[in-house]
Amino acid sequence: MSDLRLDLYGLTREQLTRQFAEWEFSLVHVARLWNYLYLELADSWAAMPDLPVRVRAKLDRETRLGVLSVARETDSSDGFTRKYLLRLADDEQIETVLMRYTGRVTACISSQVGCAMGCVFCATGQMGFTRHLTPGEIVAQAVHVARALRAAQNAEAGPSPVHRLRNIVLMGMGEPLHNYDAVMQAIDILRDSNGLALASERITLSTVGVVPGILRLAAEKRPLHLAVSLHAANQAERAALVPAAKKWTLDELMAACRVYSEQTGRRIFYEWTLIEGKNDSADHARAVGHLLRGLPAQVNLIPLNPTAGYAGAPTRSEAAKRFQHILAQEFKIPSTVRQRRGIDIGAGCGQLAVAES
Ligand code: SAH
Ligand code: SF4
Repeated sequence: MSDLRLDLYGLTREQLTRQFAEWEFSLVHVARLWNYLYLELADSWAAMPDLPVRVRAKLDRETRLGVLSVARETDSSDGFTRKYLLRLADDEQIETVLMRYTGRVTACISSQVGCAMGCVFCATGQMGFTRHLTPGEIVAQAVHVARALRAAQNAEAGPSPVHRLRNIVLMGMGEPLHNYDAVMQAIDILRDSNGLALASERITLSTVGVVPGILRLAAEKRPLHLAVSLHAANQAERAALVPAAKKWTLDELMAACRVYSEQTGRRIFYEWTLIEGKNDSADHARAVGHLLRGLPAQVNLIPLNPTAGYAGAPTRSEAAKRFQHILAQEFKIPSTVRQRRGIDIGAGCGQLAVAES
């Protein structure tokens, strides 16, 4: 039977305060508990000695601490990327990646077990959809990474660089805008200034192009960065790679992106998985340029990570450079090529979970 107790990681501080008031506990204990959860990163009731025994007993009865256990962990050969396969309470598994390059510490976290969107080149898409993650399961991934960073810091002798978790990208398994409410609740918890205190401009949500979700984000003016997975600049080519494009067409998607940028004043990142011979020619680059002309945009080029279920190959670096050059010279659109670090540990979304199953 599933555990029906409240997962503490899924509650905002406000909700926890209401709960404690209902239990008639002093609100001093809320502040202590929050401190234990997100500053001390405690992983059991026993690690919370300053909470009175009766409070801990009540918490133990009514709530649970959704700490995720590690099913597998892998480091890339250059040591900059660590990928975790984390086990949920019902034994499902998700991926969380810790990246430590260019002087930044970033956690790439999942929003669903599997994904319903079926992008042909994506390992998670090839798996199909199992279930949404709860807010607590999303927050627990960030807590896991924060703990790992602290452990690494403790292990290092002498002064070490800053290891606090500062950046989150929702680019792991799943489509975050298909699990909108849980994702937004998790983001509210991650941003809490007395907790992990992630700055909203350091949280990036990547979507396949769920148009109603983008419009809702625009209307709610939520302070985060939006990345939109484009991969093709015309409807037919996009629908062949991204089946969700049949439901939300490229025209509708671009209209929603325009609304988002107008309402929020924010630039959107457009992601483009570069597949050799498929979407990496000079003509493709020009098509992207025309599509995005006049929009506040940056293009993130991601050379394909090969997966078992898709025959494509990654674009060679000369073709990626040509793509970038055309965007910059002919359209003044900035772009980056994501470094393929971590490819030796299958750091493409969903790849570790597939290898395990
Ligand atoms: N579901 C969301 C976020 C997760 S995927 C989305 O699709 O945007 C994050 C990014 O990785 C997306 O741009 C996705 O298209 C890309 N991606 C997925 N599988 C990939 C692979 N095998 N190689 C390169 N990029 C991949
Ligand atoms: Fe889902 Fe994103 Fe993978 Fe597409 S790329 S199947 S939307 S996780």
